[in-house]
Amino acid sequence: AKARRERRDRLHDLLDRAAAYYARYLWESAEAAGARDYLARRGLTEETLRTYRVGYAPSAWDKMLLGSRQAGFSEEELLATGLAQRSKQRRGSLYDRFRERIMFPLANARGKVVGFGARAMRDNQPPKYLNTSEGEVFHKGSQLFGIDIARRAAARAGSIVLAEGYTDVLALHQAGVQNAVGVMGTSLTEEQARELERTARTLLLALDADRAGQEAMVRASRIAAGRRLELRVVGLPEGKDPADLIQEEGPDAVRERVARSVPFVAFHVDKILTGSDLGDAEAKDRAIAELRPVLGPVPPSVLREELIRRIAGRLDLSDQLAATLLEQSAEET
Ligand code: ATP
Ligand code: MN
Ligand code: MN
Ligand code: MN
Repeated sequence: AKARRERRDRLHDLLDRAAAYYARYLWESAEAAGARDYLARRGLTEETLRTYRVGYAPSAWDKMLLGSRQAGFSEEELLATGLAQRSKQRRGSLYDRFRERIMFPLANARGKVVGFGARAMRDNQPPKYLNTSEGEVFHKGSQLFGIDIARRAAARAGSIVLAEGYTDVLALHQAGVQNAVGVMGTSLTEEQARELERTARTLLLALDADRAGQEAMVRASRIAAGRRLELRVVGLPEGKDPADLIQEEGPDAVRERVARSVPFVAFHVDKILTGSDLGDAEAKDRAIAELRPVLGPVPPSVLREELIRRIAGRLDLSDQLAATLLEQSAEET
């Protein structure tokens, strides 16, 4: 057990040093001038970038490698942390995995760096984001970007804001929404939901307002179901993410939208109503069938009444008929 702890501490130490190295490289190297410019153009301040320990990886193939080896780390440790990889050529030497990218350290809840998300600066440098691959210290499925920083604010507020991307979390934090974490593009996992549940009672979904983001919110609601998490949705302008909104409309705009979040069920009803063809009676019946299980768990309440009225309006039915059609029938429950 002691050996395992020492091993883990060394790998964390290596990753922490790497984060510090990339950060220094961002602020001090001539090579990173373009990256500093890019981040400034995106409206991110030095204070915010330093809070999240954002850095820059040099274009050279071995700078990280050489520095880490000089500090006493082995090739094996460099591979285990995902900082280096072995070339497929015959001699099979190591090279730095991350080059010419903006580096977002991924830390666990205690602030220990476990991996990196790395953004390309140009569109012709795919993939846009390159992450540490799954390994001994990095498990994407249990990671929430920014959890170490958001934790206290989330506990204080009783709520936590879930965004998709790294830049969303930074921009939200800078705009005063300091209880923000990032799901890093994937669907919410059970492990992430458990961590969120431990942190706050209310989960505010602020995923991108595009098709993928909306689908992800519906999937997230299934993961959150049965947990002690009240789910709400932060409305964003069509096609935008929180970072876009903040850049285009300023910090107040996003704070207002966070304050005006709606219960997940209201978002879901609207999503079905706007996404469905309601052209004829059969189409309306199909929409009702889709809405019925969504309304099912909502107890008699003003919210339920409002949702039924909204549905009735869109389907051009009386409120009474809509309410009847939306009742779960005995066989279905
Ligand atoms: P930006 O604003 O810098 O363009 P974004 O965060 O808006 O980035 P999205 O395409 O919305 O980018 O993706 C959301 C998140 O999903 C990213 O921040 C990243 O964590 C993750 N992601 C996206 N593409 C990839 C990829 N190819 N590999 C790994 N993770 C990815
Ligand atoms: Mn997206
Ligand atoms: Mn996005
Ligand atoms: Mn974005």
